[in-house]
Amino acid sequence: MRRPFIAGNWKMNLNRADSQVLAEELTKELTGGVDCDVAICPPFVYLETVRAALTGDLIGLGAQNMYPEPVGAFTGEISPTMLLDLGCQYVILGHSERRHVMGETDKQVFVKACSAIAAGLKPIVCLGETLADRQAKRTAEVVRAQFEGSLSGLEEEQFQHVTIAYEPVWAIGTGEVATPEQAEEVHAGLRTLIQTRYNTQVAEAVRIQYGGSVKADNVRDLMAQPNIDGALVGGASLAVDSFLGIVRGAIDH
Ligand code: PEP
Repeated sequence: MRRPFIAGNWKMNLNRADSQVLAEELTKELTGGVDCDVAICPPFVYLETVRAALTGDLIGLGAQNMYPEPVGAFTGEISPTMLLDLGCQYVILGHSERRHVMGETDKQVFVKACSAIAAGLKPIVCLGETLADRQAKRTAEVVRAQFEGSLSGLEEEQFQHVTIAYEPVWAIGTGEVATPEQAEEVHAGLRTLIQTRYNTQVAEAVRIQYGGSVKADNVRDLMAQPNIDGALVGGASLAVDSFLGIVRGAIDH
């Protein structure tokens, strides 16, 4: 049985004061613990503020990206060791906005995943098809290529630190959520790819989140699917009630 994992991707939203309040409120509401791993991923510049507001270890801290080198002349970049230094446990890699807006490739995502794991961070590696891919019935092919390019080069020991987030690009920030059956089909396909590349034990252990317009009112049906283990949440992670609604729905689906 895989423990549910809900992560909030704040993207380039909120300011310092709002970040602090949101982290404090979430901590207060989740005090006592929940049967679910929860993490929030604020912008780099608010990681320290949020870390300070997250008393205890109820809520994990993640970054939204990183550069794969530990140190050096890489102007404007942030290293995995810096993220660790700020108290991060997680880092989102290969988010569709990085792939499609910043042109990040599978190879770059793979190099970042290796570097994150080597440093002691747990990557949440995102993949997913565009609307054109889905309409052309290329979803399985695209997801397989992303898995092979971004993940399958990891050794078994490295792979055990990974969470995968299946995020159909057409569902991110659009209000258009994949049906539980559409998401389950991709999640089950991914688990089969993992089983073929590694083994049954690894495939059964890895958590695969769904991401794309997850809300409190659709998370239960998604989580009821056997291969959906949590959610990567964008818009609905920016307010206490909507994020907690998702966490609670993920627990008692
Ligand atoms: C995301 O940014 O990863 C995401 C899934 O966004 P939203 O929940 O807003 O669709």
